[in-house]
Amino acid sequence: MARIGFVGLGNMGLPMARNLLKAGHQVAGFDLVPAALEAFAAAGGNPAGSAAEAARGAEFVITMLPAGRHVRDAWLGAGGMAAASDSGAVLIDCSTIDVATARDVAAGAGRPMLDAPVSGGTMGAEAGTLTFMVGGPAEAFARAQPILALMGRGIVHCGEAGAGQVAKVCNNMMLAANMIVTAEAFVLAEKLGLSHQALFDVAGKSSGQSWALTSYCPVPGPVPASPANRDYRPGFAAALMLKDLGLSQDAAATAGAETPLGAQALALYRRFVEAGNAEVDFSGIIRMLRGG
Ligand code: NAD
Repeated sequence: MARIGFVGLGNMGLPMARNLLKAGHQVAGFDLVPAALEAFAAAGGNPAGSAAEAARGAEFVITMLPAGRHVRDAWLGAGGMAAASDSGAVLIDCSTIDVATARDVAAGAGRPMLDAPVSGGTMGAEAGTLTFMVGGPAEAFARAQPILALMGRGIVHCGEAGAGQVAKVCNNMMLAANMIVTAEAFVLAEKLGLSHQALFDVAGKSSGQSWALTSYCPVPGPVPASPANRDYRPGFAAALMLKDLGLSQDAAATAGAETPLGAQALALYRRFVEAGNAEVDFSGIIRMLRGG
């Protein structure tokens, strides 16, 4: 049994912490929102009075926070988590944040630190089937792996500090562009009188195949579990996709990489979100492409 600190018990963090508790670990948790802390206590966790208190004495300290500024503040700023943690602890940030902040925080932490963003959404967090993309020292990765395995299935060591965040933004940029062009193809097929099922049956087995089509189809019918079958309730909210596309474009600008389709995907998701669709599943962008 390990002692684990967990800070950020929101939509993702709470179910992830629950899976650690279910496996018999001792987890001290903290969140700024009292209701989150109460739900954590109800699941058997030990509520801490501050982020630093959650970190103190733990072998593994995990954060799952909204954005880079929260992560920097929790570890190096007012939260004081890095300084409060044991010198032998492994620090793990699972939030999706910008690459530069991930690298800065790892460099400033003074202890082995991993960036370990996830994909799989709240359903994956509940089921313990997240994918972790991990950056940081190999030795810290080896120690953290059994803990991450309680919350996820696919755990990939991507390289040094920040490499997990790079993998995450690259993956989601591909996903966004794939989803948009898949939705465009269905809209074109509708206008030309081709049924959804016929396009799915052909493209799903041809070179147009993608995860956006065969696992997350943006029209109802062909993939019964996709959000299109429940009026585009998320799933993966468009606001989160917009956030990740913003991170990918910031990273591209810093690295001097040309990503014109990523930039176009960002512009389209911004339009979709600004039209009042922040909480709609990202596959719902097909409605905007239909002009609806
Ligand atoms: P959320 O807003 O539900 O949870 C974040 C929690 O952090 C909140 O409960 C908030 O009160 C808490 N918090 C903020 N600052 C804090 C601080 N200083 N100390 C303690 N607690 C603090 O967000 P979420 O959906 O759980 O997402 C968390 C991260 O995971 C984000 O970076 C997001 O991009 C990423 N992510 C989310 C999903 C998803 O489907 N929700 C999927 C993959 C990745």
